[in-house]
Amino acid sequence: MPLHIPRPLYDTLRAHGEETYPHECCGILLGHADEQNLTVAHLLRAGNTRTDSAHNRYHIAPQELIAAQREGRKLGLDIVGFYHSHPDHPAQWSTTDFAEAHWFGCAYVITAVANGTAQITNSFFLIGTSEDNKAFIHQPIQLA
Ligand SMILES: [Zn+2]
Repeated sequence: MPLHIPRPLYDTLRAHGEETYPHECCGILLGHADEQNLTVAHLLRAGNTRTDSAHNRYHIAPQELIAAQREGRKLGLDIVGFYHSHPDHPAQWSTTDFAEAHWFGCAYVITAVANGTAQITNSFFLIGTSEDNKAFIHQPIQLA
C-alpha cells in the first residue's frame, strides 16, 4: 500500500514543518483510496490546537476534521491521511501518535525537522479494525 504524493504537495508539507519549527505542524491529506494505493491530491493545514506541549504532540480539532470532510466532498476527495512534524526528533511514530491514531486505512506522515530544516519523511499506514488490533506499518512514499 504505497502512498502516492505529487512532489509539490510533498515539498509543501515538509515546508510546513520548517515554518512552524520548533513547534509541530499538522495537517490533513485529501485524496483517493483504493485496494492498492493511497493517492494524495490536496493538503489542508490544521492549526495545532494543543498548546500545552506543541513540540511533541499534535492534535487536530474535531471541527477541523468536519471542515476537511466537507472540503473533500466539494473536491470529490476523501480524507486519506494526516501529517505532522517531529521537531528535533526522528520521523518515527511515538506512543502518543499511536494512541491517538484512529483512522484505519489512512496514512500517518511524519517529517523530522532538525534545526529548522526538514529531514526524513516517513509514512505509516494504520491497519486493523479496532483499538485492540490496530498497528502501524511502514509505507513507501512514491513521489509523482
Ligand atoms: Zn508525532
